[in-house]
Amino acid sequence: MQPLIKHLVGMTGHRDHNLLELSVVGALRDLVRPLQVRALEIFRFRDEQYVRPRVWVEDGRVVVAEETLGADHGGELLSHFPSLHACIAEHINSAEETDADGQFVLWLPVWLDDKVTTCLQIVNATPYSPQTMDVIEGILGVYRNYRSLLDYSERDSLTGLLNRKTFDEKFSKLAVGGEDEEESSDEVDLERRHAEDVHEQWLAVVDIDHFKRVNDQFGHVYGDEVLILLANLLRSSFRAHDRIFRFGGEEFVILLRSAARSDAHRIFERFRSNVEKHDFPQVGRVTVSLGFVRIQPNETPVVILGHADQALYFAKENGRNRVCNYEDLVSSGSLPDHIDQAPAEFFFENPIESKE
Ligand code: GH3
Ligand code: MG
Ligand code: MG
Repeated sequence: MQPLIKHLVGMTGHRDHNLLELSVVGALRDLVRPLQVRALEIFRFRDEQYVRPRVWVEDGRVVVAEETLGADHGGELLSHFPSLHACIAEHINSAEETDADGQFVLWLPVWLDDKVTTCLQIVNATPYSPQTMDVIEGILGVYRNYRSLLDYSERDSLTGLLNRKTFDEKFSKLAVGGEDEEESSDEVDLERRHAEDVHEQWLAVVDIDHFKRVNDQFGHVYGDEVLILLANLLRSSFRAHDRIFRFGGEEFVILLRSAARSDAHRIFERFRSNVEKHDFPQVGRVTVSLGFVRIQPNETPVVILGHADQALYFAKENGRNRVCNYEDLVSSGSLPDHIDQAPAEFFFENPIESKE
């Protein structure tokens, strides 16, 4: 098989963003033989945009960066790379420059839906011929298309949130502090102060209160509209490196990363209050109940979800429109600290495998 075709087959054989990126960098290394090729991550932290290498070539091998979170993110300010900075600000597909060492540098931001979270950087002694540039652009095109397909398969089509299948596949990795990309964040300040020193992870399950009534009174179209608006409220209430999933019909799961217990409670409570205050067109007021639990690395997803689910059902049983923490309920004696039988419905139906 031709080397180019072989690489294209390799690239499109992956179901994972990191492996895809590794494969793209490997393809560029073999096919255009640059001095260096790197996949850079572009991310936002405290209202500044940063760049950090995620995949690059070292001693001829393609390597992946260790994943980091919080203030110790290892990124450099995007503004320190003026050509790339301008290229992104102006929404351009590529930029070229000669660096301080006289080397040719090609920046290739990967645009997906007007957003960029990855950029390829290719460094060479001299500029490339038009034929080689064609190969580079071809590989980039396949990468972009395939990545957008991967993104699509990870998301729920109504709300655009990550779907249940993605949760099942990625929970363990995300819960220990994994990949960090996606849309920029909001006005959150409080919890950021703590992000540097506290690295506890939290899982919340959210269920809309009396959602059947919304459907019964206003019809499914308005019900769906509520789900879309609620997804927007979720996105604006949490930080970029938290993860939000649509888990079932009107049930959502939030993975909150790097927060102290009191902050976790405040963040979830703020979301609950944001929903309560929101005026949903036609429908008016909608509320949610939320149960959350600290993620203990030695516990399985089934147990973690089960505990959050118990806290959620406590919230439902005790007035709804409430945020309840599993550990608090156990220490106050409101919940037993272990359960003899499966406590509640949907998580235990098929907790690990995809429902789709
Ligand atoms: P509770 O406060 O106890 O949660 O009451 P509830 O009425 O919300 O009860 P439950 O959570 O069991 O109801 C889920 C309802 O959500 C049932 C179904 O009609 C509705 N639903 C599930 N998926 C969708 C969807 O995609 N669109 C719409 N419009 N409705 C949905
Ligand atoms: Mg429900
Ligand atoms: Mg409900």
